[in-house]
Amino acid sequence: MSFEIPGVLWRRDPQVAEMPLVFDSPHSGSTYPEDFRYSCPFEALRTAEDAYVDELYGAAPALGATLIGAVFPRSYLDPNRSVDDIDSALIDGIWPTPLMPSHKTRSGLGLVRRVVRPGIQVYDRKLSVDELLARLERCHAPYHRVLDEACQRTHRKFGVVWHVNCHSMPSHRKGKKGGHCADFVLGDRDGTTCEPEFTDFVTRELRGRGYTVRVNEVYKGVEIVKRQGQPAVQRHSLQIEVDRALYMNQKTHEKTSSFDSLQADITGLIEALKRFATARLEERRVETV
Ligand SMILES: [Zn+2]
Repeated sequence: MSFEIPGVLWRRDPQVAEMPLVFDSPHSGSTYPEDFRYSCPFEALRTAEDAYVDELYGAAPALGATLIGAVFPRSYLDPNRSVDDIDSALIDGIWPTPLMPSHKTRSGLGLVRRVVRPGIQVYDRKLSVDELLARLERCHAPYHRVLDEACQRTHRKFGVVWHVNCHSMPSHRKGKKGGHCADFVLGDRDGTTCEPEFTDFVTRELRGRGYTVRVNEVYKGVEIVKRQGQPAVQRHSLQIEVDRALYMNQKTHEKTSSFDSLQADITGLIEALKRFATARLEERRVETV
């Protein structure tokens, strides 16, 4: 069974025996709503997409996991930000509740982006309170509701859930030194959103496939893993960022010939996570007998 809210999100349910594994791709949406009314070049806007990340993890339902993807683009509204993470300079009017702008918002990359990247403004106007509230109601609330429900339902059924929040990051390989310079960056907010065994397992699996991996460097995880991760009650949430240079041309947004091999390795990672979860469920079963 699967579920869809047109223009907002889809959920693909397990096609074989269910595992306590939930994946979500909040930034791969590329259906631009008519009421967006941006003023920057469309190509600049597209650089905010984590393009094709939902496809990279597309094997998850066939392996017993739930996969959720956003359809709306991240530049329209970012589900990986909290609802009060808004830049008041962007609002035409008085916001009805207190705002808590994070450092991301201060650099223009909050819940609703002010800039695509430094120097490129998304809008040549302010956004009305009603317009912003409508985006929250139409996109942010259902995305979190569907993800919350999937993780809660799985946790009720198995007593544990491992959630993977899937992203891609612009490549800085040829750019400045001191960037992430890794194929994958894992983020568990410094060990607070999942058990260390989960982060270590994914690190080892990816390194075993020949990739470079860093943990909690630059990309530590933001709102989604913060909301889902409660390791003390067996709710584990890990953010995975993959370097876009491994699968796409960052100028044309087209997949490169290496897409298939990366996708195969990520399918291998999901298979490994299935073995990880199976072994952990067995341990728990033995402990409770
Ligand atoms: Zn992302």
